[in-house]
Amino acid sequence: MKALMFLARRFVAGTTIDEAVPKVRELNDEGIKVTLDVLGENVSTRDLAEKSGDAYLTLLDRIDRDGLDANVSLKLTQMGLDIDTDFCADVVGGVVDRAAEYDNFVRLDMEGSTYTDATIAMFERLFARHGNVGVVLQAMLHRTPDDVRTVLDRGGRIRLCKGAYKEPPAIALQKMPQIRERFTELVPTLLTSGIYHGVATHDEKLIAWTIDHVRREGIDPASFEFQMLYGMRRERQRELVREGYNVRCYVPYGTHWFPYFTRRLRERKENVFFVLKHLFKK
Ligand SMILES: Cc1cc2nc3c(=O)[nH]c(=O)nc-3n(C[C@H](O)[C@H](O)[C@H](O)COP(=O)(O)OP(=O)(O)OC[C@H]3O[C@@H](n4cnc5c(N)ncnc54)[C@H](O)[C@@H]3O)c2cc1C
Repeated sequence: MKALMFLARRFVAGTTIDEAVPKVRELNDEGIKVTLDVLGENVSTRDLAEKSGDAYLTLLDRIDRDGLDANVSLKLTQMGLDIDTDFCADVVGGVVDRAAEYDNFVRLDMEGSTYTDATIAMFERLFARHGNVGVVLQAMLHRTPDDVRTVLDRGGRIRLCKGAYKEPPAIALQKMPQIRERFTELVPTLLTSGIYHGVATHDEKLIAWTIDHVRREGIDPASFEFQMLYGMRRERQRELVREGYNVRCYVPYGTHWFPYFTRRLRERKENVFFVLKHLFKK
């Protein structure tokens, strides 16, 4: 497990907030904004959910105290969604309230499709409170064009990504060309909505397509941000900043890194090669 943690450090900024903060500063110094994620998902007790909520309160205090250019991302199942929806709303509501005190922002990550309805409903419930909360939508899901309309009608900020969870054909597109096509159908709607959204991908085809679209349509580059994950395409993140785009890096930390790490391995064979190469070197 220790060897695996060593390898996971490519994608995870450490196990504690103190380990993560210097990485955030390094990114901020390069003009890259951050969203911090305290790793965790599918907690089974109220106590664990409340502890997750507390970890985010501490994190928001720290972001403010240290003057970091960072907001936070969280998973609802880490805050008790599997236990009780109202309880989860209380825990996440506490985080959203604290973020509002600092004029900061909370992004609800999107998990597997069994949670899509509940996540959008929670977004609507919390957004009505302060407006400092946004949600993630996954281009691969058949339902996503409708969900984009729902969230835009409320005035919410969307992070658009492909989707990291394995879903059946009845629920989601399976082939990369179709997922890319859907992504490129949704980006123009987001970028002309007058709301600040995130285009979250490392896929050069989609990044280049978005830049072409923005130039062609005369869209202000400051009106949206590209988002990428910690440990992925760092040089491309710097380049985009140099080209005048907003870039936000998703920086996860914490002890519950294993499911996040396996998702990163599953979605890209080069990440597996990276792990194997280092295992054989040892
Ligand atoms: C900031 C952020 C937040 C996310 N949040 C969520 C979430 O809440 N819920 C969720 O389900 N998913 C989330 N995801 C994950 C997302 O859904 C995808 O699973 C993940 O980003 C992989 O898809 P991709 O578009 O980045 O590129 P991929 O489909 O992995 O790659 C496609 C192509 O892009 C290029 N490419 C990709 N990576 C690299 C690289 N490192 N170097 C060079 N070229 C590369 C290659 O040409 C590759 O063939 C998030 C992703 C990001 C970036």
